[in-house]
Amino acid sequence: MNPGTLYIVSTPIGNLEDITLRAIRTLKEVDLIACEDTRHTRILTSKYGISTPLVSYFQYKKIQKGEFLIGKLKNGKNIALASDAGTPGISDPGVHIIRLALENKIPVVSIPGPTALIAALTVSGKPTHKFVYEGFLSNKSSQRRRRLKELSEEKRTVILYESPHRIVRMLTDILEVYGDIEIALARELTKKFEEVRRERVSSLIQHFKSTPPRGEFVLII
Ligand code: SAM
Repeated sequence: MNPGTLYIVSTPIGNLEDITLRAIRTLKEVDLIACEDTRHTRILTSKYGISTPLVSYFQYKKIQKGEFLIGKLKNGKNIALASDAGTPGISDPGVHIIRLALENKIPVVSIPGPTALIAALTVSGKPTHKFVYEGFLSNKSSQRRRRLKELSEEKRTVILYESPHRIVRMLTDILEVYGDIEIALARELTKKFEEVRRERVSSLIQHFKSTPPRGEFVLII
């Protein structure tokens, strides 16, 4: 391990067995693990006997925490960046510290692994050779619809992230903009209630009217 390196460590998106041997070794060998929620990451570190200290890295504290972590890296400490799920920097606060490290000429090394968008895409049945990842669209309805209108011109497969309390609104906007197309919806991937539905948008809306949406969602259009 080269001193003063920031390791971007992918962790499971649900099933704790979805972690690489290299990720476990890295989490054991670094001086500090910077994560979103220490309680959440501790479940993983306890399972694998990792005793490295954890420090939380919440978005609202990102400036102070970023500078604190950069200071440690400059003093030769190795840090692993982990998020609550999947790959740090993909629709989560990790992106800020990665940029800050690069600006400070700190080596950044990827320890690749799970990410919800690729897990969902590969089981969706939609074309995988060209795709565009949009993450979370705006929670403002007008902005979300405007972006969906632009995306409706897109030839590549479109991947969106969504939370349970907004999924029906998002599906309703998709129905309005795209019409009643067939899309794939991946929910709770790798977890107990994992499901992938490949259905028309109207049928998904109907489904969630009778079964309240729970868990985490990826939409593949
Ligand atoms: N960094 C993560 C990644 O690499 O995928 C994404 C973090 S983002 C804050 C959380 C969102 O990812 C959720 O709202 C959901 O859209 C998606 N997600 C994460 N885990 C998931 C899972 N097990 N099943 C489906 N979607 C998931």
